Amino acid sequence: MTPMSTSDTPGTRLDPWFDSYAARAHRMRASEIRALFSVASRPEVVSLAGGMPYIGGLPLEELGAMAQRLIVEQGEVALQYGSGQGDEGLREQITQVMALEGISAHPDDVVVTTGSQQALDLVSTIFLDPGDVVVAEAPSYVGALGVFRAHEADVVHVPMDADGLIPEALDRTLGELASAGRRVKFLYTVPNFHNPGGVTLTMERRPQVVEICQRHGVLILEDNPYGLLGFDSEPLPAMRSLSEDGVIYLGSFSKTFAPGYRVGWAVAPHAVREKLVLASEAAILSPSNASQLAIRAYLEHFDWQGQIKKFREQYRDRRDAMISALEEHIPEASWNVPDGGFYVWVKLPEGLDAKSMLPRAVTARVAYVAGTAFYADGQGRDYMRLSFCYPTPERIREGVRRLATVIDAEMETVRIFGTGGEPPSDSVDFPSPDLA
Ligand code: PMP
Repeated sequence: MTPMSTSDTPGTRLDPWFDSYAARAHRMRASEIRALFSVASRPEVVSLAGGMPYIGGLPLEELGAMAQRLIVEQGEVALQYGSGQGDEGLREQITQVMALEGISAHPDDVVVTTGSQQALDLVSTIFLDPGDVVVAEAPSYVGALGVFRAHEADVVHVPMDADGLIPEALDRTLGELASAGRRVKFLYTVPNFHNPGGVTLTMERRPQVVEICQRHGVLILEDNPYGLLGFDSEPLPAMRSLSEDGVIYLGSFSKTFAPGYRVGWAVAPHAVREKLVLASEAAILSPSNASQLAIRAYLEHFDWQGQIKKFREQYRDRRDAMISALEEHIPEASWNVPDGGFYVWVKLPEGLDAKSMLPRAVTARVAYVAGTAFYADGQGRDYMRLSFCYPTPERIREGVRRLATVIDAEMETVRIFGTGGEPPSDSVDFPSPDLA
C-alpha cells in the first residue's frame, strides 16, 4: 500500500503519515548523541562524545576463530531460534558474573535481553502507563530517558553529589510526589561509575536508598553496565544483593566485553521475571542464539576477568590523560575525577552554554555531548559529558586542547557581550539534535 498523497491527508510535506502516529511516537526524539554520530565519527574529529568501548583492546584474531568454530560445530543451534528467556548455559554463567558484585541468583531468575537497552524497554512496557512517574538521578543516562519518554512517563530528577544519589533528597521527592497523588513506578539508578555523572553511590548510602524506596513502596531499577570497570577498587555490592524483592537488576556484556553481540540481562523478582519473558517474546521471540553462544564460549574459553583487568588499566590511562589535559588547558571549568567507567562530567565556566557551543566545537574538530541530553526537563546547559573510553590518550589530549580553544573564544564573547555566540549557520553541516 502506498501512502496517501499530501492532498488526501493533512500530514506534513515530509511525512504524509504524521497524523497517524500514536501519541508516543510524537514524543520520540533522536538522542543528542545519535545526532552527533554522523559528524563525530569523521576521522578528523576527536570524538569525546559517544560511549563506545575500546574494541581494539580485544584479542580479535582469537575471537574470529572462536566465531568460526561456533558456526561450524554448533551452527544448528547457533543459527536457530532459541528460548524466550535465553540460553540456560549462559544464564548459569551470568549468575557467576553477578556473584562478583555480591548477587546470589538462580539461572531461572535471569532473562537474557538484546543489550540492557532492551531490558529498559521491557521493564517500562510492563510497569509504565502514560503519566506515571519515574524517579531518576539528575542527570540520567540519555538512552533510558528516551525509553521512559516513549512510554509516556514523566521523569522527576533527584540530585546527586560526589557520593551518588542523595538519600534525603530522594526521600523528600518521593514524599512530595505521594502527597501530590502521583504514581511513582520505580527509581531508575546507575549506582556505579554513573553515565554521565561519573560518580558511584557509596556503600553507606546503598542500604539507605533501598530502605527509602521500600518505605515508599517504590521498586528500584538498578542499571549496572560499568560495575566491574573500577580503576582502583573492588566492586561494591549491588543494590540487588541488599534486596531481592525490591530491585530489578540490569547487567550487560557491552562494556566489559563487546556491545556488538548485543547481550544483556535482567534479574527480577519471580513474578516480574515472568512478565519480562512474556514481553520479550512478544517483542523479539527470542534473543540471538548466535550472540549468546558466542558470549558463552568467550566466558568459557577466554580469560575474561583478565581482559576486564586490561580494560580497567587502559581506561584508567585514558581517564588520567583526560584529567591532566583538563587541568592544563581548561582550568576555568570544574569536573569530577571518576574511579571507573567511561565519563567525566564537566561544569563549564559561568555564562557558557554547551548546547549552543557544540557546532563551534565540531568546527574545531572535537565533539562532546551537551548536558541537556541527560535531563528530562531542559537543565544541563552549563554541563558537558566527555567520554575517555574510545580515543587513545594522545587523541584525548588533542581533543581537550581543541575544546580549550573553543571555550576560550566563548569566554571572550561572554566577557564582551555578556552571553555566548549564536551557532554559526554556515561553518559546518551539523544536524540539529532535535531532528536527526
Ligand atoms: N545503561 C547505561 C547506563 C548505559 O550507559 C548503556 C550504554 N551506553 C546502556 C544501559 C545500554 O547498553 P547495552 O544495551 O549495550 O547493554
